[in-house]
Amino acid sequence: EGVGQEMSGSGTVETEMWNKACFLSRLVASSVKVSRTAGDLIKGILARGELGVIDKGSATAYDPQTEADRAAQYLIVQSLHRKFKDICIIGEEEKVSAVEVLEDGAALDVLSLSFPPELASIEESNDVVVWVDPLDGTTEFSRAKDKTSVETLQQVTVLIGIAYKGSVVGGVIHQPWSFPNGSSRTIWAVKGLGVHGIEVAKERNERVVVTTRSHGTATVEQALQELERRGLSTSVERVGGAGFKVLKVLEGASAYVFASPGCKKWDTAAPQAVLEAAGGKLTDITGRSMVYSSEIQKSNSGGVLATAPWVNHSDYLNALPDALKESLPEFLPRQ
Ligand code: AMP
Ligand code: MG
Ligand code: MG
Repeated sequence: EGVGQEMSGSGTVETEMWNKACFLSRLVASSVKVSRTAGDLIKGILARGELGVIDKGSATAYDPQTEADRAAQYLIVQSLHRKFKDICIIGEEEKVSAVEVLEDGAALDVLSLSFPPELASIEESNDVVVWVDPLDGTTEFSRAKDKTSVETLQQVTVLIGIAYKGSVVGGVIHQPWSFPNGSSRTIWAVKGLGVHGIEVAKERNERVVVTTRSHGTATVEQALQELERRGLSTSVERVGGAGFKVLKVLEGASAYVFASPGCKKWDTAAPQAVLEAAGGKLTDITGRSMVYSSEIQKSNSGGVLATAPWVNHSDYLNALPDALKESLPEFLPRQ
């Protein structure tokens, strides 16, 4: 075998590192690799232009799904399940589209990291839940009429979050089109091992708050007004995607505020893992931790509040009125 071959998919270097790595290292490394392949798949589908948009929402709420969401979910879930049979994988999409080739590889930079004993001792079991949003920011993606508009397409991310006994321990945010030149990048993190693939911003004077572009509600506006009144928001940016908003928080925005239900566990698992590894915080709007075990309610019905590493999370929590918090319970009554 030549050197080139050794560094590729099933080469000996990778096999050796794989054999030495712990279960979590293998899972994160495989997630990083498959997120990149999913990103390439998404790019190919947009380039061909057959988005196959269907509405999976209710009578009152539009919720688009495209062929890219369906194919990327199949690729990610099947690729990970083929290697890790005993974990639980929860993906956003119910309807999927089979792809012919699955991803077998693993990212070498993850496999080469040394994992501390408390993570290295995690074994493959159904205590491990992987939350998959194969394409976050579908509303923006499906409206990308100009297929070269990085301004719009940067809002698309592939999210893979890894939880153990209900808490996130690792996550991947892959951005197929990043600003300004449209190249892809992969941001990943493991609890206690830092964030890779992004330069995390230091303290800023201005406090830019990011929020939803397409799912605005009266309670979202109320929260934004309270934060402005208290000097915790000097400007508001409305952009799509939970993944993209957390990237904004890592790169200089002070907070991501969504005081409304509608965001799901697969939207926040990977972003939370990445943000917390950078020293930031993500909770619901009353400060309750998100729970990521397999039987948990899918909706983040308490809303989302994510703050940058240089921001005091409680300042934002305390600024939000009690009545607003009470209107967003952690659990919705069962139907
Ligand atoms: P946004 O900030 O509007 O881009 O939303 C972030 C994530 O939460 C996306 O995956 C959205 O699809 C999801 N989301 C937020 N609100 C709703 C809603 N009302 N209905 C369906 N999905 C929502
Ligand atoms: Mg999403
Ligand atoms: Mg999605």
